[in-house]
Amino acid sequence: MNINLEVRKLPLAEKSRIVEYLEEEESWKKLMSIIPSTLTEDYRSDISLNNPPKYRSEHFHIIQNASNLTKRFCSEILLREWATSGRIRPALGHLKYLLEKAQLFHAADFVTVDLLKQQKTRPTKGPGAPIVLNSEEIEDSETKRIEKMLDAINYPSSAIENICKQNSVDTNLNYTTKEVPKMIPKIVISESPEVEEAKPTFNVPVVVQNERNKSESDLIKFSKSLVESDNNVPNKIPDLTSLLESCPSNSEHGSSSSNNIPLVVEDISEDSSSDNIHPNISSLLGNSSEVIIPALSDLSPESSMSSSSNFPALSHLLGGSDSIANKTRSCASPLPNLSLNTPLPHFTYAQLENATCKFDQIPLIEGGRFLGSGSFGQVYLAKDLFNQPVAVKRLTLENAEVVQIDDRVTKQFITEVEILSKYKHENLVSLLGYSCDGLTYCLVYEYVVGGALKDRLEKKELIWTERLYIALGTARAIAYLHTAYSTPLIHRDVKSANILLDVTNKPKLCDFGLIKHSLNQSTNTVTTIIGTSAYMAPEAFRGDVSPKLDTFSFGVVLLELLTSKPPMDDNREGKRSGYDDITPLLDVSVGSWSANEINFGQKLYEIAQKLFAGKKQRPLMASVCSNFMNLLKNLH
Ligand code: ATP
Repeated sequence: MNINLEVRKLPLAEKSRIVEYLEEEESWKKLMSIIPSTLTEDYRSDISLNNPPKYRSEHFHIIQNASNLTKRFCSEILLREWATSGRIRPALGHLKYLLEKAQLFHAADFVTVDLLKQQKTRPTKGPGAPIVLNSEEIEDSETKRIEKMLDAINYPSSAIENICKQNSVDTNLNYTTKEVPKMIPKIVISESPEVEEAKPTFNVPVVVQNERNKSESDLIKFSKSLVESDNNVPNKIPDLTSLLESCPSNSEHGSSSSNNIPLVVEDISEDSSSDNIHPNISSLLGNSSEVIIPALSDLSPESSMSSSSNFPALSHLLGGSDSIANKTRSCASPLPNLSLNTPLPHFTYAQLENATCKFDQIPLIEGGRFLGSGSFGQVYLAKDLFNQPVAVKRLTLENAEVVQIDDRVTKQFITEVEILSKYKHENLVSLLGYSCDGLTYCLVYEYVVGGALKDRLEKKELIWTERLYIALGTARAIAYLHTAYSTPLIHRDVKSANILLDVTNKPKLCDFGLIKHSLNQSTNTVTTIIGTSAYMAPEAFRGDVSPKLDTFSFGVVLLELLTSKPPMDDNREGKRSGYDDITPLLDVSVGSWSANEINFGQKLYEIAQKLFAGKKQRPLMASVCSNFMNLLKNLH
């Protein structure tokens, strides 16, 4: 095939192969994250200051949602969207260049060797580099066997070299594929900085219409389930495998997401005469789709907020519309009809009831579904809505008889749904759906398995280095809310109870019901004082709301990380900044807080102290983040 051949004109079988490769380990995300807005004629198109990424984090979610709704591969949707957009349409040359750049060598080799009939191109350094082995130390055939085996589990060449060195000492080479991972320390590769979300994958057998390796389970491939990656959950965290067992009511009713529906990769070619710069992605979702979905490029937060958009509200497109709620609205519902601006799917109250075993009140650790409760509602573990457990928050109504559109609970619900639809960050809890047709409002979140930072600190489970990264991740989440769009978003309830930790102890800020847009950076006075007093800056009590409120609250969280002590519930501004030296208060039971002759505990405390300064002197979170980054550079 010619290097100029446009990706959209690739024959179906070839497209299917590429889709197949891009589904491995969700490789499509790597490709998607490096696609620049504009492609160049010479195929070597890179992201730069003048050529920003074509897709933003919210686009990843849109693809995943679309995949979930239409039961198509994410990579298929991505390829179709990308292949039919832009002034210069992507050709095989662009695809090859980007696949190599993303180090997706399976797919790159397929394009280079099978399609372009060229020699494989591999970098001389890094994970994709060819491995040079000393044939005297290891027999060639054995090396190939190990290499093939490791290739199958996508291990980097550096690890292969290590194994070979080990082999030169231990000549008894008799590994099985299962044994290999145990020998090599786990390597965690962070994919895309802004994307790490609960993936709505589905265990659907997939029929791939091209020849496959006969050793693989014939024409059927299952998407990787989260369960496989959860072996590292710390002891005290419930075992995900057990969580995945369906509750009786679910197995009775069955689950739409676990249906064994065969999925066929279809032809994605389009009429080449189209000169649309941004195609309509509804075509990507196939004929069966009843809804018209706009181009991904038009789904950006700015465009969805802008009234000049030519497209209907997103909420009417991807399943989040009130029309859907209306269809399924229960007569008994006290809730008002809402028209929400969100691409997220709406779940019926009955679906959520089913998925949570009727909002089972027995705590999770006792085999039930109850995760905990806060001021605004109760949280339950739900299964079978997605291919992995999720958390459902059922909001408490002040008046369960009739709920008005301007009631506090309705406003908080709308705020949370609409804001979280537009703000996506790896350190923010992802909202996956909502419900407003039943007895109360419900929010469906990714399930964050490690619990709240507050509880983990009480149990002293986190060592000092983990605490440093938790501080950095939380700071990044807040800075993101403040700076992602021209109007800063103020969380107003930053506290250790609202920071959840995932399986790797990565922090995820949650609880966005109190969030507020600050229309300008200057003082914005409100009459209702809200938040949690121990975390509130002095000016908050005067109703002065600005992003600096979050900076102050974050300072309190830093002190908790340093001392493992809960904040006091009175205004103790003086005491917070009263010590120059953190040593007497530092929790040394969690480690030395020192490395490379640097006292990180003291350094962190120095940063924290600045956060308790008067509002004007208090730094913005973006600068707190860069302080952390500089500090953490010294850790290794
Ligand atoms: P408040 O709302 O009063 O500030 P809170 O933040 O603890 O308190 P919720 O956000 O309602 O209240 O959370 C209640 C409990 O549910 C907490 O213990 C929290 O750890 C747990 N929880 C909340 N969201 C999730 C989630 N996405 N995954 C796992 N657990 C969660």
